[in-house]
Amino acid sequence: MMMKKFLHLFLVSFMTLLTANAQNVNTLSCPDDNHPHAIDLGLPSGTKWACCNVGADKPEAYGGYYAWGEIEEKSTYTEMTYQYCTGEDTDGDGYYDSNISYQSLGSDIANTEYDVAHVKWGGSWVMPSHDQQMELISSCTYTWTSINGVSGEELTGPNGCTIFFPAAGFAYLDEVYHSTVDGNYWSSTQNPMFSYFSNHLTFASYGVSLGSYNQSRGLSVRLVTSVTNSIYLPKSSSEISNQAIYNIYGIKVASNPKEIGKLPSGVYIFNGKKVVVK
Ligand SMILES: [Zn+2]
Repeated sequence: MMMKKFLHLFLVSFMTLLTANAQNVNTLSCPDDNHPHAIDLGLPSGTKWACCNVGADKPEAYGGYYAWGEIEEKSTYTEMTYQYCTGEDTDGDGYYDSNISYQSLGSDIANTEYDVAHVKWGGSWVMPSHDQQMELISSCTYTWTSINGVSGEELTGPNGCTIFFPAAGFAYLDEVYHSTVDGNYWSSTQNPMFSYFSNHLTFASYGVSLGSYNQSRGLSVRLVTSVTNSIYLPKSSSEISNQAIYNIYGIKVASNPKEIGKLPSGVYIFNGKKVVVK
C-alpha cells in the first residue's frame, strides 16, 4: 500500500516536471548549445542554414543589424551613415537631399569583402542568395510561434529538421522598428531593377514574403553553407532517418522523423530529446 502511494507520487511529480519543461522545449534541430550549427533541412540544393543570426549566440537571439554590404553595426542607419552612399545635405537636416549616389557592390555580394558572413564567420559561411531564400520558403512548412518568449517563424524542412527566425524587426535612423512583429533578412542579391535596393526575406505573423529594401536599412543576416566541415556538425537527413520516435513511456510510436507530424498532440522523445507535438 505504502509502495503504491509512493509510486503514484513519483509518477505525478514526473508528469509535472515534463509539463513544466514542455514550455521551454522546442523542436529545433541543434545537436547541442554550441551555436552556430549548420542545419540540414533536406533542401533540394543541399544548402544548409545556420541555426542563429549573425551576432547572436542562440536561435532566438536577435543578433546584429547590418546595412547591406556593411560588416559592422552602428547607432544610426540612414543614407548619410551608409558607407556606400554619397550625397549632399544642403539644408542641414541630417538627410541627403541632392547628388545622392550609391556605389554598386555588384549583383551578388556573397563571399566578397561586403559579405558579413565571409568576414565575421569565415569558413564556408556566406550570405544566402535570393534563390536560396526562395528555396527555403518554398520547400519548408512554417509556423509563427515563440521560443523563450521571443516571437518568430519556425521552419520545418522536408526531412523534418527545424530552424527558427526571430522577429528582430529592422533598424532605421537610430531605432529598431517592428521587433516582435516581423523578422527581415538580407539576401546577397542586389535588386535587378533598382541598384540601391537589395532583396530580402520577411517573416511575420501574417505570412512570409520576399521583397526589397533600401540598402542603408539595417536588417538581420542569416547565413548558409553548402559545405560540411568538422567544426560545424550538421544533423544530416541520413543520420536521422533511422531514428525512431518514442513516447514518454519508452514505446516506439514511429520509425521515421518524417512521421512526427502525424502523431497526436503530446510529448515524445526523439534523438534523446523531448519534442512537443502541438
Ligand atoms: Zn544551433
